[in-house]
Amino acid sequence: MTNTTVAAARSRLTCFQTWITISAVLLVAASSFETAAAAQLMAGAAKVDITNPNAAVDGPLHARALVIKSGDTTAVLVTLDVVSLGEIGYVSNEYLGDVRSRLEKELNIKPTNVIINTSHCHGIPCDDIDDRTVQAVKAAAAKLVPVKVGVGAGSEDRVQQNRWLKLKSGKVLDERHAYSLPANDEVAEVGPIDPQIGVLRLDAEDGRTVAVVYNFACHPIMGVPTDVNTADMTGFSSQVIENNLSAGTIALFVQGCAGDIDPIDYKRVDRPRNAEALGNILGLSTLKAVRNIKTKSDDRMIVVNEKMELPRADLAQRMVAMEEERQRLLDSLNGTFLNLETFVRLAVKYNLSNDFPSNYAYRYLQEDARNREGLRKLDATNRARLKSYIRNVRTMEQLTRINTNLRLLRKHQQQLVDAGKRTIEVELVGLRVGDFVLTSFPGELTVPIGLGIKKRSPHEWTFVAGYTNGYIYYCPTAEQLKNVGGAQEDSDCLLAPEWQKLYEDKAADILRRL
Ligand SMILES: [Zn+2]
Repeated sequence: MTNTTVAAARSRLTCFQTWITISAVLLVAASSFETAAAAQLMAGAAKVDITNPNAAVDGPLHARALVIKSGDTTAVLVTLDVVSLGEIGYVSNEYLGDVRSRLEKELNIKPTNVIINTSHCHGIPCDDIDDRTVQAVKAAAAKLVPVKVGVGAGSEDRVQQNRWLKLKSGKVLDERHAYSLPANDEVAEVGPIDPQIGVLRLDAEDGRTVAVVYNFACHPIMGVPTDVNTADMTGFSSQVIENNLSAGTIALFVQGCAGDIDPIDYKRVDRPRNAEALGNILGLSTLKAVRNIKTKSDDRMIVVNEKMELPRADLAQRMVAMEEERQRLLDSLNGTFLNLETFVRLAVKYNLSNDFPSNYAYRYLQEDARNREGLRKLDATNRARLKSYIRNVRTMEQLTRINTNLRLLRKHQQQLVDAGKRTIEVELVGLRVGDFVLTSFPGELTVPIGLGIKKRSPHEWTFVAGYTNGYIYYCPTAEQLKNVGGAQEDSDCLLAPEWQKLYEDKAADILRRL
């Protein structure tokens, strides 16, 4: 390293330290903390249909609201069957602020006590989703009754898979709609999942269940066989739970750390994709956990709401490297003897009969008997032609992945330029209800982050919600960010790797105070 580079590195470090100090000061200023006085816990829940009326639907979309009150503190949890709050999808960037100010004005609920989680299904909601959300919260508030509270966990590992594929080359690719998977013989390892279903159960004093809140990590993007609008697997699972508990029970699905988790068999092509089957499994496993929970009187409710700044990534250098890699791949494409039609014909023949692909067996035997090698030489040549054709196809698959991920990097680099600052503000919420502890984040956290937060938490029943109170794209671990440009999670990301420790320390701090 030259002296200049050392100096530059030191100066960068100093800037970073200063930035951490400033962020810490900002954090204290932006913090709000509310503990309920000793009182009876009250809860009410409701749901309102938010399905877009202009398209066919299989598994309608809902806004579900839970209002919980203890003493002077009221908290609201809303779950929406939409992809995100702002940025992408159909919900505007103004939605959260609008809904909160209306709830403050009309129900006197503190904006910082309103928690809105999106399931991240890719369904299409109605245009007046903000009105309908307020309507759902009002309906829930009107149903407030004294409740007993219980917490527990179920397990489900049959409906999801980690979508990160570690390759033998050390690189990582992900399973996406947008591009093809790598060749089977390149794949070395798959990543972890979190099978835990975190459950909060609230029962009225007459024994009926008012609400079930359940937290689980999986992209609900399976789709339905008819390929129409749908709330997807978590819409179906909520329906299963509601249909099997007391009349009027509301099941609120809170999306967890699903950044790198897809539905199982997401890329199968030989049968229709069916979210309902997966939702039924998840719903039944949640019900199993619900039935094991004993509720009790417990008036503890705490809401912590804090803002923090996280460092943005500068992707310029990585973009240049990816452009160079794209050019190298492009230059490596060579002409082939075969075209698509001749390739398919030969591929079928050579897979049908390994020993005698080009003619009847007796013709090969006749040639062998006369020391002629025409057929065997033809086969060797054709096999080499098939290989060159496949090599080009694999290279083109790589190019499609680079193009897709490079577009994401360009988008986020432009956002960095437009933001005019090196940090992005996020809102974090901590919620305790009885023994149930939830901490939230406004991005697509990946599963190792959720597992880590749960492990380090001082509370037995700690759950983590991504996709809450905003949307800042994918938020993978610092380790996953070594792969920038290789998979969606590390490309569709605004953050520099340092974000992870800053966030995890803050989440741990919030958890300690719950
Ligand atoms: Zn996603």
